[in-house]
Amino acid sequence: MSNHISADNRESAWRDNLRKSLTAKQRTSIPRAQMPELTAEERVHSFEEVNRGLTAEQAFTESQRCLDCPDPQCVTGCPVNIDIPGFIKNIERGETDEALKVIRRTSSLPAVCGRVCPQEKQCESRCIYNKMKRQPVAIGYLERYVADNGKTKSEKTTAISSRGKIAVAGSGPAGLTFAGDMAKLGYEVTVFEALHQIGGVLKYGIPQFRLPNSIVDNEIESLQSVGVNFVKNCIVGKTISYDDLIADGYKALFVASGAGLPRFMGIPGENLIGVLSCNEYLTRINLMGAGSTDCDTPVWKGKNVAVIGGGNTAMDAVRTARRMGAERAMIVYRRSLDEMPARAEEVKHAREEGVEFLTLHNPIEYHGDDSGHITSMRLQVMELGEPDSSGRRAPVAVEGKQIDVPVDMVIVSVGVSPNPLIPSAIDGLDVSRKGCIIVDETTMQSSMPLIYAGGDIVRGGATVILAMGDGRRAAAAVHEMLGNKK
Ligand SMILES: Cc1cc2nc3c(=O)[nH]c(=O)nc-3n(C[C@H](O)[C@H](O)[C@H](O)COP(=O)(O)OP(=O)(O)OC[C@H]3O[C@@H](n4cnc5c(N)ncnc54)[C@H](O)[C@@H]3O)c2cc1C
Repeated sequence: MSNHISADNRESAWRDNLRKSLTAKQRTSIPRAQMPELTAEERVHSFEEVNRGLTAEQAFTESQRCLDCPDPQCVTGCPVNIDIPGFIKNIERGETDEALKVIRRTSSLPAVCGRVCPQEKQCESRCIYNKMKRQPVAIGYLERYVADNGKTKSEKTTAISSRGKIAVAGSGPAGLTFAGDMAKLGYEVTVFEALHQIGGVLKYGIPQFRLPNSIVDNEIESLQSVGVNFVKNCIVGKTISYDDLIADGYKALFVASGAGLPRFMGIPGENLIGVLSCNEYLTRINLMGAGSTDCDTPVWKGKNVAVIGGGNTAMDAVRTARRMGAERAMIVYRRSLDEMPARAEEVKHAREEGVEFLTLHNPIEYHGDDSGHITSMRLQVMELGEPDSSGRRAPVAVEGKQIDVPVDMVIVSVGVSPNPLIPSAIDGLDVSRKGCIIVDETTMQSSMPLIYAGGDIVRGGATVILAMGDGRRAAAAVHEMLGNKK
């Protein structure tokens, strides 16, 4: 027998000893890992990813902070119920591949979720450390570490296509998750996407400095490896109808067409040149190369740019504007920082990149020059009143207090509505007053028995992980509806 102990084994034994020897007190005294990131100076001139990912050593140390609670509340805070202590303890054992396997049991897009999920409002907000007045375990950072460094074997199904054809409209996180689950169950899944790129908001909305395209492409490739087909430039309800799909032998349709219809405020001057929706701005830059000067239809590069709104979309737009050369980039938000829905990390990064926050201000009109280009915005100063139906304190105008601020570009990011095309193209599909497809919340089945729906087309602008959760539930329900056990 050889006495040789490989470096890997030694490392694993060393970690094992360290893990066993740590008391709860020692674990709780480890400070939370800091995400390595590009400096603000480096990043305002580049679309390179800002967060660089934890090192192996950082991930191991962070994993030691997890107390492996008997009743882990972090799991209940995750919309897809990832076995969080399960994957973290695998990191601690040095089993990154195994950790990835644990995550992949319930999440099909871990590299995406590890980067963009609002963990501070979900899993991390339920971590036991909060009760101890300590920073929660960095679950999101660890998920990203595992997704970037672990390997899973291809799970290609042998029974592919044996259970019949399923159609999906839209290739965002809801459609991708549904497609992955159905393919693994043995269905022949085709995802029809209206745009020329797969990924939905992950590609056309969230900028590369937060979520590189290569990450989304890897996830798409792994779906292709389990047999999912993608058809680009195909609009369900226009290029191909629901009746066409049924006639082609599809047994069910999952509608995941998102909420890509921008909202405006309806205030004077919104039609001026230089005022545009956040969707248009980000899609043109992220998907059509409109940020580069040699593009046929380059986007206007404002020097004084105001982004109206306080969500993730607004942060992405304002940080993009800085990278496009804005000297003054402002967030105009009618409530205070405390009510801002954007992820805390995004707000922090925007501040570091020199973005100004005009909180408790609301635009009431825009002014332009003779050529019709915007030159300034009039802002109403606001204060906070009683909580409104959202539970947040309502913004109330302070009478007589208005200011004019010079701008040459305004990007409106005050919410989105569901894409109306599919609901209007299918008779008998029930929609809400806001245009969302109405579904049974457990099964995601619509008023039409063979049509299921999930993600933003049902929720009207939510999150990646909620869209994924819908896709999962719908896949299980479609499988059952087609006569199979879950
Ligand atoms: C700029 C921005 C930043 C965001 N940041 C975050 C974040 O940090 N964290 C987070 O959790 N969430 C974030 N969100 C929200 C999140 O991205 C969405 O909730 C999520 O993408 C919704 O997924 P979905 O699959 O329902 O739809 P989408 O991702 O919108 O995908 C829908 C797809 O359907 C296609 N489609 C539409 N109509 C048709 C049709 N008729 N036929 C075929 N295809 C069609 C569209 O082209 C699109 O590709 C952000 C959103 C935006 C816009």
